[in-house]
Amino acid sequence: MNLAHNLDQAARFFPDFPALVEEGETTTYAELQAQSNRVASALAGLGLAPGDLAAICLPNGREWLAAYFGIIKAGGAAVTLAAGLSRGELKMLLADCAPKFLFTTGEKLEALGAWEGLGKVTKVVAPGGEIDFERLSARGSREFESVERGRDDVAAVLYTGGTTGTPKGVMLTHENLMVSAYNVARQERSNHEDRVLCFLPLHHVFGQVHVMLSTILTAGCLEMMPAFDMDQVLVAFDRGRVTKFYAVPTVYMRLLGRADLKERLGKVRYCFSAAASMALEVVREWKQVTGLDIHEAYGMTESASMVTYNHYYRHKVGSVGTPVGSVEVAIMDQEGNLLPQGKDGEICIQGPNIMKGYLNRPEETARAFRGPWLRSGDVGHLDEEGYLYIVDRIKDMIITGGENVYPREVEELLHERPEVAECAVVGLPDREYGERVVAVIVPKPGAKPDPDELKAYLKERLSGYKVPKDFVIVPDLPKSAAGKILKRVLKEGFIR
Ligand code: ATP
Ligand code: MG
Repeated sequence: MNLAHNLDQAARFFPDFPALVEEGETTTYAELQAQSNRVASALAGLGLAPGDLAAICLPNGREWLAAYFGIIKAGGAAVTLAAGLSRGELKMLLADCAPKFLFTTGEKLEALGAWEGLGKVTKVVAPGGEIDFERLSARGSREFESVERGRDDVAAVLYTGGTTGTPKGVMLTHENLMVSAYNVARQERSNHEDRVLCFLPLHHVFGQVHVMLSTILTAGCLEMMPAFDMDQVLVAFDRGRVTKFYAVPTVYMRLLGRADLKERLGKVRYCFSAAASMALEVVREWKQVTGLDIHEAYGMTESASMVTYNHYYRHKVGSVGTPVGSVEVAIMDQEGNLLPQGKDGEICIQGPNIMKGYLNRPEETARAFRGPWLRSGDVGHLDEEGYLYIVDRIKDMIITGGENVYPREVEELLHERPEVAECAVVGLPDREYGERVVAVIVPKPGAKPDPDELKAYLKERLSGYKVPKDFVIVPDLPKSAAGKILKRVLKEGFIR
């Protein structure tokens, strides 16, 4: 098997269909196939052997896709790195994965300068590198038979979001990725008529597997954007081609600030969110303004994206749905005992989508598993129909005066307030309580949140120990490349 067979199939049966559109220019499936074949055969000629790692640090676009499928067709594994990494972060990740090839931009290469770590990369494909992308492609041939790989061989290495600590490289196999692309496409009834806006970064599991691989599998079209840009997104909607919209919760919140949102949505008929918890209030407001539901799924890099999905029919607001395909979910306590339905505990997952392990981190891999079960690090419970509800991350739980507080519960209530655009509730060190609950708030434009009013609102609805002691107003919150609020960075800022 080879993950690239999904592209081979699309190119065979839908050769003239658009695979992607970038800055108004269309690439058909036949063209994407030829481009990635050229990369694959050139890489094979330059010594990429099956199992070798080749890293991609490029913005979303045609070149990214050709490099990705080229590496995988040649039997290698694509290590996908965020295009927005700083010089220091990029060095750290390159040292961590030590790839044989690196696809990047001239700018990034210049930033890396004379770094000795680059010596381990036998070829840098970049303007100013040993070879640039055009010359590499020109060396290759349009025809290339994808190298056969085992289902357990690694096809891609994706770094985790880095929300709770240092990002870890997750080894995903050909089977992991094929299964997940299929599960997503099946749940979302994806087909060749879909036109998908793709600004979520392709290095991350959400953009790469949920959005890109499922679209390629069903020969849909990816409308590429290098990053989220409010005006460009609205213009793309205006053109009336986009039918599916994928974003993280913070993007939905920002779009809700636009008075002209409804008129500008064009042909969008499907909205989806994942990667972080979505406030119920935002889902309600979105439905009220646009008439559309926001579908939600739960997943993580280690599960190659989708674990559960909140179905079209029998959609339950507030839940992330039920397990998909042959994926299984169990709720366990910290000793590994199964907990009864309704009880909060750690969400554990098994199935053909679960990672092979973390790259070069055998101890962390061992810690991540309990027998066949992957420990997610998230707390949740199942209802009587098997729908999963996420409570919070274990690491984000605050212990104040011996009581446990899950920040999400407090954040949900703050989102009900009209003056709150975004918020994060964190625990800061406190001599008396161990940790003190603090709410950090980004106000809606023009609004002036009053801490006393917010406190009174929460006091009516929560036990006293859950009510934040302090309210801090800030213009924005630190976010990861995947668009998640970085609570650890936020806390460091206050502690320093
Ligand atoms: P790191 O593991 O490096 O700290 P991360 O966990 O953010 O970063 P990802 O693999 O990108 O890295 O994210 C997976 C996590 O995102 C899940 O464990 C969960 O906490 C959160 N998540 C994903 N989907 C949802 C959702 N629908 N609702 C709430 N949280 C979600
Ligand atoms: Mg994680």
